[in-house]
Amino acid sequence: KEKARIMDKEALRRALVRIAHEIVERNRDLDQVVFIGIRRRGVPIAQRLARAIAEFEGKELPVGILDITLYRDDLSRLSEKPTVNNTDVPFSIEGKHIILCDDVLYTGRTIRAALDALVDLGRPATVQLAVLVDRGHREIPIRADYVGKNVPTSRREVIECRLEEVDGVDEVWIMEQ
Ligand code: 5GP
Ligand code: MG
Repeated sequence: KEKARIMDKEALRRALVRIAHEIVERNRDLDQVVFIGIRRRGVPIAQRLARAIAEFEGKELPVGILDITLYRDDLSRLSEKPTVNNTDVPFSIEGKHIILCDDVLYTGRTIRAALDALVDLGRPATVQLAVLVDRGHREIPIRADYVGKNVPTSRREVIECRLEEVDGVDEVWIMEQ
């Protein structure tokens, strides 16, 4: 059930605009920057960041997609294995600065799987991670370079990122079981 709304439409918009500025600031050679969104909600996040940069820098940067799902072979957390189903990256990542985008960063295992998949596609110059929400509880040494909002959560809580493109509304909630 809904516990608290932690971002409304404006807060979400401002966070993504701020991240877009941070990306521009940290990547002087914008022409070498590409976005890759992790399905599902990492994709609209990547698209919005690319659109914001197109608006204030006049550069259209490519956006690719990685489709990664968690599957469990039993009920224990440790056996949750993120697997890459599909990649739609219709451009070369060789020598590029990749901005990997996801909605929520939790254990880090999904990002690890994404990095494995990227290695198969080529050799980027850097991979940087942008997430809308970092909810903590990392199980491997992964961190985000760009964070919309840090939200300390208990393991029983989950974050619900509702995005216009997918959910018809822009807001972020903490949900309690
Ligand atoms: P991981 O544990 O691998 O960092 O996160 C697993 C995947 O599930 C990521 O794609 C992440 O977006 C999603 N995820 C993990 N925790 C949450 C959560 O509380 N809310 C939402 N919306 N997604 C989550
Ligand atoms: Mg996800």
